[in-house]
Amino acid sequence: MGRNVTARAHRLREMADLRGGIDLGGTKIQTAVLDPRGKVLGEARIQTPISGGPEDVAAAMAEALREAAGEAGTEPAALSGVGVGSPGGVDESTGTVTGARNLPGWNGTFELGNALEEALGTKVRVGNDVQVATEAEFHLGAGQEFGSILGVFWGTGVGGGLILDGKPWLGRGAAGEIGHMVVQRDGAKCPCGRRGCMEAYAGRAAMEAEARRQHKEGAKTDLFKLMRKHDRDRLTSGIWERALDANDHLAEDLVHRAIEALGTGVASAVNLLDVEAVILGGGLGVRFGERYMEPLMREMNKHLFRDDRPPAVRVASLGDLGGAIGASLLFAR
Ligand SMILES: [Zn+2]
Repeated sequence: MGRNVTARAHRLREMADLRGGIDLGGTKIQTAVLDPRGKVLGEARIQTPISGGPEDVAAAMAEALREAAGEAGTEPAALSGVGVGSPGGVDESTGTVTGARNLPGWNGTFELGNALEEALGTKVRVGNDVQVATEAEFHLGAGQEFGSILGVFWGTGVGGGLILDGKPWLGRGAAGEIGHMVVQRDGAKCPCGRRGCMEAYAGRAAMEAEARRQHKEGAKTDLFKLMRKHDRDRLTSGIWERALDANDHLAEDLVHRAIEALGTGVASAVNLLDVEAVILGGGLGVRFGERYMEPLMREMNKHLFRDDRPPAVRVASLGDLGGAIGASLLFAR
């Protein structure tokens, strides 16, 4: 009996150390509940609300976290904390998020941390979505063997995260915005409103806008035919892949242009920081990382000051759960 009581006390202690993570994206909210070793015990994924405001998004986040906690056999209030990876301008010290342009009605500042603490009954910390995903890769994924890494998340936009000498580098809160490294002065218009950013060439949204423009001007491509055939309303990474598999020239051109921009921007960042490794994640990064590794390294090498010893480039390994896992690590920093 003594042993049973001890085992139960031990289990209770373990359960008390469980942490939650929420990855808040423009299309989905992914949650996870993890043990102290980073093992995922429960997870849930729901669609991000497309109307309403930040309060509605916060309510949906709380609901998805409750679901993951239930799967892990616990409840939110019993967790030692819940971390959030959020887009927009994140202030880690206050848990506020400002101007998350992919989320409904989120132009101003919202106290996301406070709202979630109230809804969940436990401590909440909020971090930048890409930074926490980089931290997840550093601790548990493709970056484990390195001391300094640059995470590059190539998706709808291009985001970045930094670990320097084992520690997250946040700057004044806005470090890692590698998508807005200038790769072409007075170049293409970026979704951020400026010109010539890496994201203006490599972001999925910018690639799609350019494909539409050239298609309208008469360029031949099956991209939009494939999009309709697969019942999509945008050019997803899967649609791009199908077009490339069919040797669609416009798709090949635009992906090549994206790789050139990525190589240029990433090499510039490496020239400044000399990190040991670049971890390539995001929807396009994970799908195309291996396929375009050689051209990417070639483009990088053109611009690397020390081209005799380029950094390692690895594809992110934690998949769709990386963001939620990284968010939970906000309680392990
Ligand atoms: Zn920009």
